Amino acid sequence: MYINETFRMSEEQRAALTDEEISDLTYAITHYQVSNDLEMRVLQELRARLAALPARPQAQPRQPDYPNGRTLDCGCTVRWKRDVMSTSRGTSCAYCYDRMSR
Ligand SMILES: [Zn+2]
Repeated sequence: MYINETFRMSEEQRAALTDEEISDLTYAITHYQVSNDLEMRVLQELRARLAALPARPQAQPRQPDYPNGRTLDCGCTVRWKRDVMSTSRGTSCAYCYDRMSR
C-alpha cells in the first residue's frame, strides 16, 4: 500500500488499517511532503497512529556465553559453550579436540 492511497480512503477505511500497515508506511508517514489540507489531515492522523504503535522489538545481537572468553585446558579461548569439548585431559576447543583425536 502506498501513502497516497490513504488519502483516497474514507475515515472508516483508514481507521481499519492495521498496525502492520501503518508500520509498513513508517517512512512515508514520516517524510511525506503534504501538498493540501486533506493530505495534512490524513498525515496527522497517521502520525498519531504511528506514534501510538508499540515499539517493535529490535533483534538482539546474541550475547556470547562467555563474553570475556573462557580459556580452556588446551590453551585456547572460546566465547561459546558449543565450542567447549570435554576430553579425558580436560576441556578443549573443537579445533584442538579434532587435532588430538587424530
Ligand atoms: Zn584449543
